[in-house]
Amino acid sequence: MIPKVKLAQLPTPAHRLQRLSEELGGPELWIKRDDLTGLAMGGNKVRKLEYLLAEAVAQDADTLITAGAAQSNHCRQTAGAAGRVGMHCVLVLGGDDPGTRPGNLLLDELLGAEIVWAGEAGLNDAMQAEFDRLAADGRRPHLIPIGGSNARGAAAYAYATRELMEQDLRPDRIVVASSSGGTLAGLLAGARLFGYTGQITGIRIAKFGGAERDRLVELAKGVGELIGENLDISPQAVDIREGYMDAGYGIVTDRERDAIDRFARLEGILLDPVYTARAAAGMLDLIHRGEISKDERVLFWHTGGAPALFAYGSQVMDQPGAMS
Ligand SMILES: *Cc1c(COP(=O)(O)O)cnc(C)c1O
Repeated sequence: MIPKVKLAQLPTPAHRLQRLSEELGGPELWIKRDDLTGLAMGGNKVRKLEYLLAEAVAQDADTLITAGAAQSNHCRQTAGAAGRVGMHCVLVLGGDDPGTRPGNLLLDELLGAEIVWAGEAGLNDAMQAEFDRLAADGRRPHLIPIGGSNARGAAAYAYATRELMEQDLRPDRIVVASSSGGTLAGLLAGARLFGYTGQITGIRIAKFGGAERDRLVELAKGVGELIGENLDISPQAVDIREGYMDAGYGIVTDRERDAIDRFARLEGILLDPVYTARAAAGMLDLIHRGEISKDERVLFWHTGGAPALFAYGSQVMDQPGAMS
């Protein structure tokens, strides 16, 4: 058992999406609510942080450093987790200070994080520079990788696969957003470790970042090693769809708006503009094209992120600009 700090409300609920299924005329859709993991408005990173923070605590760190985009959900959840274990949190965010604090940025500050803008620097270089600065000041900093996606963080999603099976839900297919890769890699490892035999379809969100086939396999194998098993996973066996990311990271198109609209209007569920809207749009497209068949039972794994809606404003409306 990998040590963990309890941060998340688990198990997260899993339930049917009756009205959305009806509007589409099938398949039988379900949802796993990792938007409801509880800490600091929830999301998938809370699961990973349970394991990542156990390591930071064991190493007697006093400051967590992580990085992401300005609207990073991972950074917001890390800020919340740091407070829970009495650590300081430094967030290295991409680009320059926009001067305003919408969405996740507001929450980062409320949660007590110190924000450092990376400007033109690469996020990993800027994180390392913060690490060196803090260590030189006599602090005990601990780096959390972007998206929490090392083997330890990803292991959380191996255990999440087991949690789903303990809910007696064996969907024919799981659909999930994939960006830094830890969530999908963890699910792939968990399927092997705990006997889930359905399909796992990742929807790739961005061209950069870590959801390349080879890296997903390497991460999943790393999870296996941590849990104590050699996993034999071939890159060709990984179902990651790369056809939905062309608009660019964080760009909301009609497809994402349509997904946000359907989930909100029919199910009262808020998707986020960057990850889950794109993943849901991919799922709807695969259903539309018959690649996901109408007689499947499909589970959409909601990974959180709705606080970013408050930064995107009317960009997420069905008729953008209507409210502005
Ligand atoms: C980080 C994030 C993802 C992607 O998870 P990875 O493990 O980085 O692939 C998906 N959805 C939301 C809302 C996220 O914040």
